[in-house]
Amino acid sequence: MRSIPHFLAPGVAVSGNRTSDVFDPNAGSVQAQVTLGDAALLERVVAAAQAAQPGWAATNPQRRARVMFEFKRLVEAHMDELAHLLSSEHGKVIADSKGDIQRGLEVIEFACGIPHALKGEYTQGAGPGIDVYSMRQPVGIGAGITPFNFPAMIPLWMSGVALATGNAFILKPSERDPSVPVRLAELFLEAGLPEGVLQVVQGDKEMVDAILDHPGIAAVSFVGSSDIAHYVYNRGVAAGKRVQAMGGAKNHGIVMPDADLDQVVNDLTGAAFGSAGERCMALPVVVPVTDKTANELREALIPAIAKLRVGVSTDADAHYGPVVNAAHKARVEGWIAKGVEEGAELVVDGRGFALQGHEQGFFIGPSLFDRVTTSMESYKEEIFGPVLQMVRAGSFEEALALPSQHQYGNGVAIFTRNGHAAREFAHRVNVGMVGINVPIPVPVAYHSFGGWKRSAFGDINQHGMEGVRFWTKTKTITQRWPDGSVDGGNAFVIPTMG
Ligand code: NAD
Repeated sequence: MRSIPHFLAPGVAVSGNRTSDVFDPNAGSVQAQVTLGDAALLERVVAAAQAAQPGWAATNPQRRARVMFEFKRLVEAHMDELAHLLSSEHGKVIADSKGDIQRGLEVIEFACGIPHALKGEYTQGAGPGIDVYSMRQPVGIGAGITPFNFPAMIPLWMSGVALATGNAFILKPSERDPSVPVRLAELFLEAGLPEGVLQVVQGDKEMVDAILDHPGIAAVSFVGSSDIAHYVYNRGVAAGKRVQAMGGAKNHGIVMPDADLDQVVNDLTGAAFGSAGERCMALPVVVPVTDKTANELREALIPAIAKLRVGVSTDADAHYGPVVNAAHKARVEGWIAKGVEEGAELVVDGRGFALQGHEQGFFIGPSLFDRVTTSMESYKEEIFGPVLQMVRAGSFEEALALPSQHQYGNGVAIFTRNGHAAREFAHRVNVGMVGINVPIPVPVAYHSFGGWKRSAFGDINQHGMEGVRFWTKTKTITQRWPDGSVDGGNAFVIPTMG
């Protein structure tokens, strides 16, 4: 059985003898085992990071940026290999796996401009003979804890900005698809990153807790489900760290009566079922406004869903592949059963789907529910599978209230031709990322990613300038260069510039 290792600084001894199975979701069998590290391993990893970080922080930002440029080139050169590796553990189709890597690379492109982003502020003559300036310095050692659903993009969101700003970075990827993060770390080393500046520790809760408690780690970035995000946030903050913890989602797509329905159906099927619905920016809830819109949309969705091709992740014609493991498949199918029990109308049932020749694979067909209501548990909770739920709304105000009052507030979309309705919606909705006729409004890398409510704990978003702020601390210097004559000011009064 293949064993998936950590990626450590030279000489760091491995400890921890537990392992976790890594599946081949297409076949439904175990393909490798990942070694789970322990707290003793983290001690040595942090010590190696502490030894490496000062030299990296002292490397001028332009040289750090050159490592990013070279890393980008290497990832592009290895795109096919990385996409196949990603797809083989996650189960998303190859084209989507490339998208996962590409969205991460776009953060690396942002990080190539880090010398500009790190420039400080300066005020000349803030007082008599006094200048004030501020600089951004790395936090020191940062850690990232990432989910299974974007094994390239999310590690790159964090590591790109954390490394370019001069930190050492310790990544704890998901134990369900841990190979791509290791491969990315190898490419970073090949690109010129000094040894010890980036390490990947494999593990589960034991390693997460060790990271949260370690006094040598200054900042922790987490992405995963909301209960764990909340736990990570509380424990990390209690240990005195800076923490950003992104959680789950239940994104709504509002369809106004004037929307272009062909476009909506096209966008919705991709956003609800792409990557088997395993995206925090998937669109699993559609809210048509008025019954007429709902009926038309439902009639158009049924044949569009029937045309979806579920296949092995290497099938170039497949729209989506299997979910990540058997437990997740059972969980998603459990939510479909729950929706039926709660009285929602199951229009298309994706349960019991078997792909010929891959009967043990973790495949789920697409499902469509109509007449879902806000009191149903299957509406309140995240399903994270290929399931689209339709909640009918009588008016714009009713539709606006649904995502605004939901416990999650990651993304939302409105489909309309009416600029006024779109503008009102964008301004008033209680959600962090909004799409106007854009089904998956993941901000570009030089803007910032982050939801509201139970979709994110902490107040700084991922990547863009918010990422730079997260991975650096501000130092502000007030300077005066006296000419030698003694200033008679009264030192017992708080200095003012008045
Ligand atoms: P998860 O919460 O199960 O795991 C995330 C990380 O936490 C993993 O590294 C895992 O090892 C660790 N972990 C798991 N259980 C833990 C515990 N009890 N204590 C400490 N650490 C623990 O999430 P997942 O299933 O890998 O990913 C899917 C979830 O992530 C979904 O809820 C999805 O919406 C969310 N997600 C959110 C965003 C976002 O930016 N908001 C992006 C992607 C995914």
